[in-house]
Parts: sequence; structure tokens; C-alpha cells
Amino acid sequence: MFVGQIPTDNPEHFSSDSEIDGIARQLVGELRCIECGYDLRGLSIRSLCPECQLPVRATILSIVDPKAEQLAPLTFPRLTGTGLVMWSSGGLLAIMMVWVLRLSELSRDLLDLQWKPWWIPWLGLLGIGVSAVGASALIRPNHRVRRAIAIRAALGVGFYAPLMLIYYTIYSRIDLLSPSPLLSPGMSSLSRSVLRLMLFACIAVIIWGLRPNAVGLAIRSVVVRTGRIDRQSLYAVLLSFLVAAIGDALHLLGAVIGGGVGDVFSALQIVFVSLGSVLLTVGMINIVIDTLRLYPVLVRPGVGLSDIFETNDQKERRAKQS
Ligand SMILES: [Zn+2]
Repeated sequence: MFVGQIPTDNPEHFSSDSEIDGIARQLVGELRCIECGYDLRGLSIRSLCPECQLPVRATILSIVDPKAEQLAPLTFPRLTGTGLVMWSSGGLLAIMMVWVLRLSELSRDLLDLQWKPWWIPWLGLLGIGVSAVGASALIRPNHRVRRAIAIRAALGVGFYAPLMLIYYTIYSRIDLLSPSPLLSPGMSSLSRSVLRLMLFACIAVIIWGLRPNAVGLAIRSVVVRTGRIDRQSLYAVLLSFLVAAIGDALHLLGAVIGGGVGDVFSALQIVFVSLGSVLLTVGMINIVIDTLRLYPVLVRPGVGLSDIFETNDQKERRAKQS
């Protein structure tokens, strides 16, 4: 969902293959593969470089794409690649620990097991911490990232602090003290719903803040594999949180209204929260797989996508000198 799908169309850049051919015809003179430098003249736009298998499209795209900031060389490729993987897998760890908490709760209620794993929320917190450290590597992955985008990403990283505090309060304080937050929530359930809404708000700001740079990195992978640009979104994950948030909002609304309608709202809460949690877990697993696939692309030596810019810069300089 994030990088995994191979795009079939590219509305933002080329509307059709014939348009690409038109651009290709305009490119006179030498066309050096951005990966290996092989001269691609005379090859079809749809073919691969005979030396390194990089799509010819990728080379052409790197020449014609005006949004060069997303294809600019990474300042620290390994750091960025590692940060991206930490960001996603830390988040997944925090989510999985919530599932373990729910499992322990069910085992207590249904099987009468006395399993109260106090360390599970702490492992979840560790996951969020790892995610935060990874996210900070995404603030300014290359020097062409605009200041406003870098500030936005830094703001997103900043929201990890309240996120950790709220996560701790919900899953370590409330859930471990109350007998059964899912099946018989008791008195703390309202404040728990409010806290969960705050948790979702923090995550929304984090995703909003980091999305431009994350997508910018994801684009590299698509370009390298297919030579096309595709802007997939993290908003599917955000949508999963929204579904769960609707559940908590219904719960609060039900408590305010009370009576039979209130009971219906409270029942709906469980449906929405469960659905949102499943969607979220599946979405996060996909993102972790995507970032793992992205890692080798980001650290690939010589993928420059930079070499061609240098070549173009040098050409300009040469033109000015002569
Ligand atoms: Zn090549």
C-alpha cells in the first residue's frame, strides 16, 4: 500500500506513453544510465538498461522530473534507511503489545489464568521510542528538503513525547489496574476513551508531519524498479485510526446520552475499535514490509539518481564557461 504496488499510470508526470516518447525524442545527444553510465541512446523507453537492468524510464524521469528534491541524493543513505525501518517496526511493536495485552485479558476472563504481564506496556513503549529515534532520521533526509517540510517533520517527531505518555497511562496505568478494560471496563472507561482519542490525535500529527519525506523516499523505490513515479499514501493507516477513534467517540456520546441509545453506542464502540485495530495492524505490517524492501534501494551504491543531476549541473557550468 505504501511502496508495494507497481503503479500503472502516472498522472502527475506523464499522461501517456506517447507523451513519454515525445520527451524521449527531445532528448538528443547522449543519455547515460543513472545507475551505471551505459549509453542508452537508441533503446526503447520501455526497455531496461542492458548493463544493470535499471528501467530506461528511470533515467529519463530523473532528467525531466522538476520535483528534484525527492530524487536528490540522500545525505546519509544508511542512516535514513535504518531510520525508516526503525520507524515502522517500532510502531508495529507498540501495536502488537496492545494485542498481547488484550490476549492476556481474554485469558484471564475466559480461561481464568492469572497472567498479568506488567512488562508488555514497557515493551510497547520501547517500540514507540525506537520509532521516534527512527523518525528523527526522516526530518531532513537530503539537502533539497524544503525548510517548511523539515519543520513539519520535526513537529511530527515532537509529538512522540505526548504519545509515549498517553500510551503509558492507558496501557500501563489504567489497563493493568482495572480488572478487564475490554469486557468490563468499569469506571475508568470514559477517561480511557478520552485518552485514546488524544493518542489518535498524536499519531495523526506524527503521520501528517513525516508523510512528505516518507513518500519522497518511497518514490525512489518505485522509480528505481519501474522508472515511474507513484505517490502512495500513509493515509490508509490514518484511516484505520479514524475508524477506531469513531468507536471511542461513540462510546463517549453513548455515555452522555445514556439509556438504550447509549447501550447501542457502546456496543458499536467495540465493533469500530476492533475493526480499526485489525485494519491498523494489517496496514502497519504492510508498511514494515515496504520499508524493509526500500532499505536496499536507499543504500544502493551509486543509485544516485544523483549522478544525472551532477552531469546536468556540470553541463550547465560548461555551457556558462564557454
Ligand atoms: Zn545501467
